[in-house]
Amino acid sequence: MNSVAIIGGGASGLMAALFAARGGADVTVYEHNGAVGKKILASGNGRCNIINTNATYHDYAGNDPQWITYALKQMSFHYFQSLCHSIGLLLDIKDDGRCYPLSNEAKSVLIALKNGVIDAGVTILIDSKVISITKNDSHFIVQTEQDKQSYNKVLIATGSEAAPQLGATADGYGFAKKFRHEIIPTYPSLVQLHLSSKHPPQMAGVKTVAEVTLLIDGKKEGTVTGDILFASYGISGLAILDISQKASHALLHKQRVSISLNLLPRYERGELVNILEKLFASIPKHDIHTALCGLLPAKIITYLLDDAHIALCAHVSTLNPKEVKKIAHLIGEWKFDVIDTHGFKHAEVSGGGVSTAQVNPKTMESKLVEGLYFAGEVLDVVGRRGGYNFNFAWASGMIAGKEMAK
Ligand SMILES: Cc1cc2nc3c(=O)[nH]c(=O)nc-3n(C[C@H](O)[C@H](O)[C@H](O)COP(=O)(O)OP(=O)(O)OC[C@H]3O[C@@H](n4cnc5c(N)ncnc54)[C@H](O)[C@@H]3O)c2cc1C
Repeated sequence: MNSVAIIGGGASGLMAALFAARGGADVTVYEHNGAVGKKILASGNGRCNIINTNATYHDYAGNDPQWITYALKQMSFHYFQSLCHSIGLLLDIKDDGRCYPLSNEAKSVLIALKNGVIDAGVTILIDSKVISITKNDSHFIVQTEQDKQSYNKVLIATGSEAAPQLGATADGYGFAKKFRHEIIPTYPSLVQLHLSSKHPPQMAGVKTVAEVTLLIDGKKEGTVTGDILFASYGISGLAILDISQKASHALLHKQRVSISLNLLPRYERGELVNILEKLFASIPKHDIHTALCGLLPAKIITYLLDDAHIALCAHVSTLNPKEVKKIAHLIGEWKFDVIDTHGFKHAEVSGGGVSTAQVNPKTMESKLVEGLYFAGEVLDVVGRRGGYNFNFAWASGMIAGKEMAK
């Protein structure tokens, strides 16, 4: 019988444990937290966006996104759904492909998975921080702060540094490095951004819908429309999280990063000039701030006009056509330089990690060390928002688990 150690009782580790034990292996999961699956519980605002029915490698970033194609095919949505049924978990499938537990509670995902793992005969060791993994001949020695045990096979499923308050560590990278694996530099993703302008903190708390364009070294890298929220440190909101992977990756590589906000994306630029002209003509005695209050949040107007160098108290009748065009231009293209992210503490996931070039995509086994496996976020694979990160954690965990039982 194969004796298998799984380091990390998160999404990928628990999935691997289920398949390895169902395949007949003697499985031990090491988890340094006082409980397994803390990120599962915190995910999707407590609802757990558990998978996406439409995932392809295009939804992921990393040095070689196509590397995950095999894993995604193995864990097709229908396969995942029947697996969930086998552990008593029913899914709520949304029109856009996102899936949640039918209960709408992340807790039910963890309860079902943990019970499935226990039913399959897995030993779960909580409060067990692995501090080293070594190999002598055919056996691995897994050492915790309390003791050491030997195993035929080891899976590193320690996740990433994102959200350390939930117990995230960078330990997996250290273990991998000791076995000569290359680590692609890591960076926070699905994270809020810090801006150089003094205005965002002054607008803290203001939420609106905008079209956000990401510019890297002055070149357009993508546009997303959605919620934005100004904050004391810069900017947040779903549209910002959606562009944050590319922004954070570019910052890591010392590229110039900026965002351009279109605050009224429903109008073309020329149309907006006409709308403003008509608006100002209908209320000539109003000051410019009051006049714009029907279009935009009041605080935004204050700082937008500051950037346009137009006095708030100026009467609209005093504005010349150039100034009206300038206001329309800023509403459609308000630019901010991005100087940093809000960091791993606030990030949902991490980019970078163990290089996929040295891991077999069909088995998740190391190409350098026989019997050593990797799964989940510790690898250089990062997904978009929408259930894609769990998708890869489940898929890679399943493959590793099946293989380790062989
Ligand atoms: C707030 C939040 C919300 C999220 N929401 C979603 C969502 O809705 N949908 C989605 O797809 N993704 C979501 N994610 C991302 C998703 O949670 C992760 O991508 C996924 O959990 C990765 O699985 P994993 O098994 O690789 O790592 P993890 O789930 O992080 O598991 C790694 C485990 O290893 C343990 N560990 C680390 N070091 C050691 C050590 N030395 N010894 C023993 N144990 C160790 C950790 O404590 C942890 O339990 C969210 C993340 C966060 C932080």
